[in-house]
Amino acid sequence: MKKKLTTAAGIPVPDNQTSLTAGERGPTLLQDHYLLEKLAHFNRERIPERVVHAKAAGAHGTLTITQDITKYTKARLFAKVGNKIPMFGRFSTVAGEKGSADTVRDVRGFALKFYTEEGNWDLVGNNTPVFFIRDAIKFPDFIHSQKRDPKTNTRSDTMQWDFWSRVPESLHQVTILMSDRGLPKGIPFMNGYGSHTYSFINAKNERFWVKFHFKTQQGIQCFTQAEGDELAGKDADYHTRQLFEMIERGDHPKWTFYVQVMPEKEAETYRWNPFDLTKVWPHGDYPLIEVGVMELNRNPKNYHAEVEQSAFSPANVVPGISFSPCKMLQARIFAYADAHRYRLGVNFERLPINRPIVDVHNYQRDGLMRFDDNGGDSPNYEPNSFDGPVEDHAFDEPPLKISGDADRYEQKRGVDDDYVQPGDLFRLMPPDEQQRTIQNIVGSLGKTPKEIQRKMVEHFRRADIKYGDGVAKGLGL
Ligand code: NDP
Repeated sequence: MKKKLTTAAGIPVPDNQTSLTAGERGPTLLQDHYLLEKLAHFNRERIPERVVHAKAAGAHGTLTITQDITKYTKARLFAKVGNKIPMFGRFSTVAGEKGSADTVRDVRGFALKFYTEEGNWDLVGNNTPVFFIRDAIKFPDFIHSQKRDPKTNTRSDTMQWDFWSRVPESLHQVTILMSDRGLPKGIPFMNGYGSHTYSFINAKNERFWVKFHFKTQQGIQCFTQAEGDELAGKDADYHTRQLFEMIERGDHPKWTFYVQVMPEKEAETYRWNPFDLTKVWPHGDYPLIEVGVMELNRNPKNYHAEVEQSAFSPANVVPGISFSPCKMLQARIFAYADAHRYRLGVNFERLPINRPIVDVHNYQRDGLMRFDDNGGDSPNYEPNSFDGPVEDHAFDEPPLKISGDADRYEQKRGVDDDYVQPGDLFRLMPPDEQQRTIQNIVGSLGKTPKEIQRKMVEHFRRADIKYGDGVAKGLGL
């Protein structure tokens, strides 16, 4: 038997096709509450779009632990080889709006939520191991430069390159963005990186610094700029459709999960600031250690409920995984949950897609859209004498030694040079990729004032003379 159509209050609806009017040609009656509800709800269908990472596809999957890393972390998800952790991933472009094309040159968000028995671990990364800036105080300006010109409401090459030319720490990420990997053939064909340095804490309460890597088992595949441009016009949702169809036909994409691990003390003497988000830890210094396999194997049933309402926050780490002094990470610990409170309301963690698989006990009460039992009749203050939930100092982290004067520090040049790693990347590319990278840069930088072009060529030259000269030649400078 077909389900009966009802109002939001569950009342059967007699007619969904004709409104209630005073006579056949008369005006609509205000008492047609079903019509009013239908129109009013429709008017409120949109929620605030994410300022960044608005366009995305998502899928459910599992993380299977294949190697023992318990000497580095006590996180229970890693406790046993063979552990399978349910997860959800959301994969986005950064700059475009919710309806923008997928096959554009852009960094991709690689946001993962692992539903562990100690609560949710969110690893909110990108498909690149570094980022354009290392201090979050620059973030709103950076994003403004990537988005629409306030006067013309169009994207502006000049705004982008003007910012990059004045912030040399961006050169590493700019080089990745302009290389083949800046335009993936699809979500299954790109790597994912936690990007920031995080920390691991083991059962002996020892701290290690850690970086997370997810390497695609499908192999890296990329579009050329021309292929991407053509597809963006023909099929704006190409990546979204591709992921959905692959999973639907049982072709489940997989990534091998690795970590790089640095003992706590080594951070003090390592040649790079290990908490600088514009730098990688070269594999020669800190090799990749295999941990497991992530597989995406189930499509969402409802986009809004599962993908749009999914809310990731770098603040969500579980015991055995923690933060580092990375300035970008520190700011994101605040900014992500703050964005979701604005987008979804203060109770966003209680939405089905965000809800942990373990029970939640705390003293938070009320707020908009509190749609569980709101803590029932349990005490709503602490300390209390009535069996309210209690803290557990077994989860205390080892103290982190810090020293120094409170001030605003620009990272010292020289030791932490901004040009070495972009140069290393350019030099590891085969000649044909170097050529395409230069062409991609020229195609965009060529549309900007000569002054900005010259500044950028200087930066490219400092990374690698061949790199800079190639761009200069392409620009006719
Ligand atoms: P390695 O030779 O040990 O590693 C190079 C890495 O570069 C590999 O992981 C490779 O990924 C990746 N790579 C290859 N082509 C590109 C490209 N066009 N864009 C982005 N990444 C690419 O060298 P190092 O560890 O010393 O790093 C050298 C440079 O490689 C760095 O400056 C950085 O730009 C880049 N890189 C380094 C990573 C790291 O964590 N150390 C991670 C990713 C990039 P794959 O194996 O998938 O081909």
